[in-house]
Amino acid sequence: MTALGDRIAALIAAEGPLTIAQFMTLALLDPKDGYYATRDPFGRQGDFVTAPEVSQMFGELVGLWLAQVWQDQGKPARPLLVELGPGRGTLMADALRALKLVPELRDQIAVELLEASPVLAGKQCEMLADAGVPLRWVTELSGVSGDRPLLVVANEFFDALPIRQYVMTERGWCERMVTLDAAGALAFGLSPAGIAVPGRGDAPPGGVYEVSRAGEAVAEEISHRIAGQGGGALIVDYGYDVPGFGETLQAVASHAFADVLRGAGLTDLSAHVDFPALAAAAERGGARVHGPVGQGTFLRALGIEQRAKRLEQADALARLTAPDRMGTLFKALAIVPKSAPPPPGF
Ligand code: SAH
Repeated sequence: MTALGDRIAALIAAEGPLTIAQFMTLALLDPKDGYYATRDPFGRQGDFVTAPEVSQMFGELVGLWLAQVWQDQGKPARPLLVELGPGRGTLMADALRALKLVPELRDQIAVELLEASPVLAGKQCEMLADAGVPLRWVTELSGVSGDRPLLVVANEFFDALPIRQYVMTERGWCERMVTLDAAGALAFGLSPAGIAVPGRGDAPPGGVYEVSRAGEAVAEEISHRIAGQGGGALIVDYGYDVPGFGETLQAVASHAFADVLRGAGLTDLSAHVDFPALAAAAERGGARVHGPVGQGTFLRALGIEQRAKRLEQADALARLTAPDRMGTLFKALAIVPKSAPPPPGF
């Protein structure tokens, strides 16, 4: 086991089993050995490649999307541009460059970046050093500044948020836990039965229901602020638009799937995003939800084909939009005030 795995095993020996969410939080964000807390995982040398790392086209189109949403609402004064989980800062750098086409917006924005990893916050700071707009980092959504109109983007952020898993057994719903096997190694186990899992009574035996309370809370809070302050949010991630009963928790290292429990701190952990659950949370927040639509459909509606021609990036275009690449599994969801028109691409 890894150093972090040993520490988690000692914690379980002392305190009892952990929920999957507790395990994910430690594996990803433990300040000493957590996956995101200690490294830059992106790129060809790293563990995985995200859309903004595939091509500048992605961040550019997102920047122009945000500008259109702002224009559609009558250009409210002093908007705040917020990115959740900015990774290397590539998307934001590309978006801010594209926004040079909209100087009346660019000249009055401030940027706030929600980032839990000090290593990645450092990368973002380097990447955006010459951006020429005020920058501020926060580690919690509640730290995002007060009452300005919000333009929010989150790419592959929600998949990194912790989930809990409920499993339908002959005895009813149980929660899947991380516990220890006879040899003291990390192993999956089940909680005692009798858990009430709302709205999911019809699961087949062995069916798994995944819930991200953290993700739903973020979606609801953003929606609440957009409903009150104006602006809009664009959430792009991989996930499903019809809830099922399969489990999607996965570990990835060096561009390949890995064991979820063996590599704690050394492998990325993520789960597919439950878009209907995010949409329902956002509806509770008071704003209107559009989508989800497939990333391919979304980017084509924003004109990625013309941009790809200009930049001679046919490969990147295919990778971002083809149904068997990132075009369908990845989806875009928008949140705007009820009074705003449907945003571009939806
Ligand atoms: N948006 C980037 C990075 C995606 S990876 C891209 O598309 O390339 C997920 C990002 O979310 C990382 O920057 C990670 O450090 C951050 N992150 C994960 N969990 C977080 C949390 N709970 N709070 C804040 N940031 C988090």
